[in-house]
Amino acid sequence: MTFNDFNFEPSLLEGLYSMGYKTPTPIQQQAIPVILNNNDLIACAQTGTGKTAAYLLPIINHIIQAKTSHLNTLILAPTRELVLQIDQQVDGIGYFCSVGSLAIYGGSDGMVWEKQRHALENGADIICATPGRLIALLQSGNINFEHLQHLVLDEADRMLDMGFFDDIKTIINYLPKQRQTILFSATMPPKIRQLAGLIANNPQQINIAISKPAAGIVQQAYVVYDNQKEALLVEILKNEDYTSVIVFSSRKENVKLLEKTLSRKIGSVKAFHSDLEQPEREEIMREFKGKRIRILIGTDILSRGIDVDGISLVVNYDAPPDPEDYIHRIGRTARASKAGVAITFINQRDQLKFSQIEDLMGIEVTKMPIPIELGAGPEYSPLTQKKEVRKGGFSKGKKPFKKK
Ligand code: AMP
Repeated sequence: MTFNDFNFEPSLLEGLYSMGYKTPTPIQQQAIPVILNNNDLIACAQTGTGKTAAYLLPIINHIIQAKTSHLNTLILAPTRELVLQIDQQVDGIGYFCSVGSLAIYGGSDGMVWEKQRHALENGADIICATPGRLIALLQSGNINFEHLQHLVLDEADRMLDMGFFDDIKTIINYLPKQRQTILFSATMPPKIRQLAGLIANNPQQINIAISKPAAGIVQQAYVVYDNQKEALLVEILKNEDYTSVIVFSSRKENVKLLEKTLSRKIGSVKAFHSDLEQPEREEIMREFKGKRIRILIGTDILSRGIDVDGISLVVNYDAPPDPEDYIHRIGRTARASKAGVAITFINQRDQLKFSQIEDLMGIEVTKMPIPIELGAGPEYSPLTQKKEVRKGGFSKGKKPFKKK
């Protein structure tokens, strides 16, 4: 199948070829015809599968064909990073057909608010927004959704996790009932089905390989004690084949500490966390994308939606909180069928959690030997941990793993 099979407008084809897209990915092959056909859709697909273009391409095609120019599409996404990334994809794909979008997200200063308000008055074909800020603008009476044709919820599961259920319902009340509703989610828990039941009309369903990491990611793990992690990371980063690296840590404090250590021992590193102002975050992302920074260290705010090409290594300094987060984190590498390596450090506490991630993916991740100079690591025996949990948790003096 090629993009020519969808009968897209020539200016759209030009846009997508200029983005380097040659063949549609599986989610695009399945979702594009459904959306072009004006059906509602619930699609289960992760980032890294080409899901954004899967809804943007048919929607932009509709916009090109529309006779009049109005605010046509609303895309809701959980974080400003994802909103900005979708906005950039509209700019790229829509470049030759003059379809434009406006990014609306919160947490910025009054000037940005004014700019967003003003841009709204000038109109846009597509609005990409986080729910909270959009509601504020709706309440100030600045948006007219009278002619809206498409509503997209991107990463719907993450929006619900972040407590946006009521906000989404409020926003829906401002939209015309006659519209196309498209919902993309990495997972399909019951609350997503409930939301879909409320907002979509007889939706078609597509399921793309739930909870499987993209092919092409080499996954490795090191079973370590906490006090071995830092030295191990430094050892791994000495390998200069890893030209562009993201390191995830679960805690902001760790991210800041690691930035200090790595700038001393390796260099070319920046931290990305929620204490930074939006312009600082954007600058760091620009530097990282432009390959002026080799290593980016961040919390999970980095794991969703960040779209940077050519990441050669993702390190989970701490095992992710749940399997879906693992898939999202390692999905930062090997994007759109390029190769990449994902390394996870598993301390004693995280062994059970990691074995559940392996169960979910249906594979066993290779456990790498720790460099000799760092000393021996603990054994990998998550089943022992499972038994201990069943027995009522880790009581004092009865820890399942003792440091040797
Ligand atoms: P997403 O799943 O939307 O986060 O997209 C992952 C990456 O794949 C982004 O960098 C897209 O620009 C890229 N991409 C999307 N569709 C294609 C395609 N058909 N061919 C090549 N790359 C694509």
